[in-house]
Amino acid sequence: MSTFHTALRDLGIQAVNSGGSTGAGWWSGRNDGTLVSSINPSTGEQIAGVYSCSAEDYQRIVTDSLEAFRTWRLVPAPKRGELVRLIGQALREKKDQLGTLVSLEVGKIKAEGDGEVQEMIDMTDFSVGQSRMLYGVTMQSERPAHRMSEQWHPLGPVGVITAFNFPVAVWAWNAFIAAIAGDTVIWKPSPKAPLCAVAVQQICNRVMQQQGYPGIFSLCITDQPALADQMVQDDRLPLISFTGSVPVGRRVAALVGQRLGRTLLELSGNNAVIVDQTADLDMAVRAIVFGAVGTAGQRCTTTRRLFIHESRYEELLGRLVKAYAQVRIGNPLEKDVLMGPLIDQVAVECYRAALDEIKKEGGEVLYGGHVLNRPGYFVEPTIVRAKNEWPIVQRETFAPILYVMPFQTIDEAITLQNNVPQGLSSAIFSNDVRHGEQFVSAAGSDCGIANVNIGTSGAEIGGAFGGEKDTGGGREAGSDSWKAYMRRQTNTVNWGRELPLAQGIKFGS
Ligand code: NAD
Repeated sequence: MSTFHTALRDLGIQAVNSGGSTGAGWWSGRNDGTLVSSINPSTGEQIAGVYSCSAEDYQRIVTDSLEAFRTWRLVPAPKRGELVRLIGQALREKKDQLGTLVSLEVGKIKAEGDGEVQEMIDMTDFSVGQSRMLYGVTMQSERPAHRMSEQWHPLGPVGVITAFNFPVAVWAWNAFIAAIAGDTVIWKPSPKAPLCAVAVQQICNRVMQQQGYPGIFSLCITDQPALADQMVQDDRLPLISFTGSVPVGRRVAALVGQRLGRTLLELSGNNAVIVDQTADLDMAVRAIVFGAVGTAGQRCTTTRRLFIHESRYEELLGRLVKAYAQVRIGNPLEKDVLMGPLIDQVAVECYRAALDEIKKEGGEVLYGGHVLNRPGYFVEPTIVRAKNEWPIVQRETFAPILYVMPFQTIDEAITLQNNVPQGLSSAIFSNDVRHGEQFVSAAGSDCGIANVNIGTSGAEIGGAFGGEKDTGGGREAGSDSWKAYMRRQTNTVNWGRELPLAQGIKFGS
């Protein structure tokens, strides 16, 4: 039995090639629709097909989700948290198998696949605690015998659209907080990772059904932009949480904006590390290699630009080239492999096109730059001397290409780092407390995430995750991000016998 079939069997999935969508405890069971293929990017071979959600399935999912919401919103939040705690236990039991499935379907190394599942588990723990802390505030009324306060209510069914590169964790960031907030969740996963979505749905809904709460989490798998558009335009979904590229995110924002719905946008990054003259290079090299090469450069927080103080430039480049030469590329499930494949042939062509453009601009490839001649979608991690203003450097190429550039002053480095359309993650390596503090000051990095002596990728849950500018402004997974999944209501209660008006207005006698 293949690793893939073993993983599926252990996840309790009997037949992945039938049924594509689940609502309130049902699978569509149709086998007459179009198939969404799940491809193993390490081999390029199809591993399964999943029947996609039809327009009728979608309507049924939304109706069921609304119906489930009417009950769920009245379940006390700590009780909702208790159900999420049970999901956390189920995920702990399936961590190894689900981590393997992530590796098989999107090509992450096993440690990163398992790490994604751990992030889901962490999100359940966080959400359980949060379920007792959906705090509103009280205000002092200017009118006698009046009490003012605000409270937070559930919002409704939330549409969650996710990217391929975090096929399980990003859903968990949204779904578990939405669930404790009293919302139901309709998930449209990336059609490049349908099996991960089926597995997650099975694990979580099994728990919810056992506890008597079907229909809180539903799944709509499609590769049809028209159906995705329908979901985005559906005014029964008060919030669309979208994770993906800037062009698709822009379109989603415009469509949801037209109906005055809410969006939570988590879009592309173009993240930089600054290494100054005082930096600990041992730490910097490890963080840069993990940030630039990890997940084959397919993280939104991947390190794509590196600004090195001119006094450390050649030394750091030499060490990076040596470290890159140690990176074992191959089957992500094999021990000691550090870099798996890109997701598909289109990604390989984007990598190739980026290198052609770099060469036309006059960029010098210092390491890598080749597509590997083997089955699957493997490329070399690549280091290039470049200039920040080149259009190719200003864009996010979702591949392991690192642009290196020297600088002279910290002001110059911060200006360069900010000088791109995106604003997700950023980092400085420095032992100069002034440089570190300047970097995280209001005049420093303009990103949603700014780190000192830590790389750009590998954020922990608990902090609000997200970015500014073209990255979309959304914040998920930590801090007060729960507020995005609830509606705020201000209550003024008059317990007196008079009807005084605010601002001292007298109206009639
Ligand atoms: P993508 O934009 O191609 O797809 C994202 C999702 O949008 C998929 O589910 C896709 O099917 C869906 N989609 C496609 N057309 C749609 C439409 N018309 N309406 C609604 N949805 C539609 O992105 P991708 O290639 O899957 O993922 C990579 C991108 O995601 C990168 O740019 C990366 O930086 C970004 N990303 C951002 C974060 C973050 O938290 N900021 C996290 C992960 C990935």
